[in-house]
Amino acid sequence: MNAYLDYAATAPLRREVSEEMLAAAELFANPDSLHAAGRKAAAALLDARDRIARVLGVSAREVYFTSGGTEADNWAIRCLGDGPLYLSPTEHAAVLSAAPVRGTPVFFGKVDGDGILTDFEHTMPEHVGLVAVMGANNEVGSLQPLSEIARATHARGGILFSDCVQAACSQDIQKILRDADAVSLSAHKLGGPKGAGVLVVKQGIPLRSLLVGGEQERGLRGGTSNLMAAMGMAKSLELAAEEREQFCRHTGELRELFEGTLSAALGEKMTVDGRCRVPNISHITFEGGETLLYALDLHGVAASGGAACSAHDPKPSHVMLAMGRNEHAARCGVRFSFGMQTTKDEVLFAAHTILSCLS
Ligand code: PLP
Repeated sequence: MNAYLDYAATAPLRREVSEEMLAAAELFANPDSLHAAGRKAAAALLDARDRIARVLGVSAREVYFTSGGTEADNWAIRCLGDGPLYLSPTEHAAVLSAAPVRGTPVFFGKVDGDGILTDFEHTMPEHVGLVAVMGANNEVGSLQPLSEIARATHARGGILFSDCVQAACSQDIQKILRDADAVSLSAHKLGGPKGAGVLVVKQGIPLRSLLVGGEQERGLRGGTSNLMAAMGMAKSLELAAEEREQFCRHTGELRELFEGTLSAALGEKMTVDGRCRVPNISHITFEGGETLLYALDLHGVAASGGAACSAHDPKPSHVMLAMGRNEHAARCGVRFSFGMQTTKDEVLFAAHTILSCLS
């Protein structure tokens, strides 16, 4: 038997999404061409943008297509707001690595032992251009007090950007957008294609251009529009929004079974990291867990050592370090993440495999 418990790294492409993408492939003309075939492709692109806007409760003019979460994060960090950047230390690498390129002073907040931003009233500078705090952390799944962070941000004249790439399958992004001025999303975490995402920026918030060389995306991101990706983004977001409650129930039950089975056997030899977290992520630090991830792979269990994109990086997790864990503990964590196709059998198989690898 095998168990794929790495949905936070990527989820399988949904059949309905691939069908829409294949249909979009027929509309091969450039959406910016003036002829009839181009106009047909442009209409389909408009439809994808409208559908995304409807799910998010924004206007189509507030939706910008990107090549995924990384680009949307880079765009936000580099091109939103003037003046200092304040961010949580547990942001995704796409945000953290873009911060120095922004060319403004950068201030880091602090998170508590559960990965939740604390004390921001004191650590946020008096005047701030942009605040970046993710909706849900990609390693431990922590959710942030975005309403309070938004109040503090706006009181200081800043813009609040929230990377919602991991939040989108379980959280109401419409609600997050009542607090945040901009959010990023990525299709492949929702059963859509890789290389497709959006940056949503509320009307009235100035956004500078990321890529020059074309008039696409209201003149702010040049490059021939990727209609198939846009369609994949729209369909996967619609389906994820429709099944959100069921997703939370299903993954929450699986996680309880998984963590309960492990903790009954391991007791204090394991720590479940994070408190207020999304239901589909279980990050566990195991005593003697340094090589567990590789042993699990050999036995057919796919999981991640923190962020999938840094899985080949032997450095300890920056998220766990920010949460106050020591370097050793920050290397012993494994992230298990669940999706709609995950079954009880897979979860129990994974739990028993972990126990046999650690014994
Ligand atoms: N932000 C978060 C929180 C993520 O988890 C990821 C992907 O792992 C990204 C951004 C990057 O998204 P993409 O893979 O679409 O570039």
